[in-house]
Amino acid sequence: KEHLTDADVILQGPPVMKARLSANENPFGPSPAAKKAMTEAMESCYQYPFMKSRELINKIAQYEGIQQSNLLMDAGSSPLLHAAAMFYGKNGAEIITGDPSYNDLAGTAANLGSKVIKVPLTADYKLDLDAMEAKVTASTGLVYICNPNNPTATIVDTAKLKGFCERVSKKAVVFIDEAYIDYLPDPQAASMMSLVKAGQNVIVARTFSKLYGFAGLRCGYVVAQPDTIKNLSGYATGMMSLAATTVAAAAAAYQEKEFLTDALKKTMASKQFLYDLLKKEGYTYIPSSANFVMFPINMDGQRFSQEMNNRGVSIRTWKFSGKDWCRVSIGRMDEMQAFADAFKQIS
Ligand code: PLP
Repeated sequence: KEHLTDADVILQGPPVMKARLSANENPFGPSPAAKKAMTEAMESCYQYPFMKSRELINKIAQYEGIQQSNLLMDAGSSPLLHAAAMFYGKNGAEIITGDPSYNDLAGTAANLGSKVIKVPLTADYKLDLDAMEAKVTASTGLVYICNPNNPTATIVDTAKLKGFCERVSKKAVVFIDEAYIDYLPDPQAASMMSLVKAGQNVIVARTFSKLYGFAGLRCGYVVAQPDTIKNLSGYATGMMSLAATTVAAAAAAYQEKEFLTDALKKTMASKQFLYDLLKKEGYTYIPSSANFVMFPINMDGQRFSQEMNNRGVSIRTWKFSGKDWCRVSIGRMDEMQAFADAFKQIS
């Protein structure tokens, strides 16, 4: 094949996989306690995990200070993003999102016939909240805010986002995707969860797929007003989607501070290695608030992706602001070294 698309790269994988830096996973997880809980759960996995599910839901509700009626869990946050696209994109309602941003919710809504309004990022590659707010009309069904934003790893100012939610949520639901919030120094301070508690028309999505290292286990949730949860439940399978092993692992791992702090520390060390490498090779990058880094490349994205792939390293590429960009997920140090070796050969 002359050219591989990014999707081909993910499906086929490199000839010899040295570093998988394409899907923003946490290679340091899941925690030993989560693995032990999974092994133990295998004994009783012929049963539906009703009791463990209750334990997990209680833990999350208690930690966040919310009611169970505010919470909907599913096999990762993806099914809940889809549920929101289906419910809020109905009858030609408009969806507003950043460009580029995580396109799952907006893409699903577009497939169902919604009009998606993509608002370019600011000059410093953050979601342009003012421009997004200016697009809100009576036809807006949902505004999607990915914070930290994928693929740029940028965050918006917390106070500014709170003001935005306060105003916009009176006109349309604001969906805050906090998949990467655990990578911030103080996730609770940056989260919009308090706005749900204050009764605002806001949905906060979280996942165990990132810092918890559960991408292959599938566990995520949304927190919202009880009526919103009921509406979304009509389009999601909910807790019945989760494997007993996953529920047990999530209950064991939730807010396991020591593990999370350690994974974060290792992620930061690998990220610093990448920053140093890029600086040394004469590249710039967007300062990252998540477990991936976006930087401009001097090569066609597909070619770059293919050249890296040929050297056993998977990354993703984007095109925006008139440039080709590479997004590198932060991996283990040996993976970052493999990235450095391949990158030096082709840059
Ligand atoms: N939201 C964002 C911003 C993501 O980057 C991802 C995955 O990469 C997801 C949601 C979906 O993750 P999951 O379905 O594993 O929870």
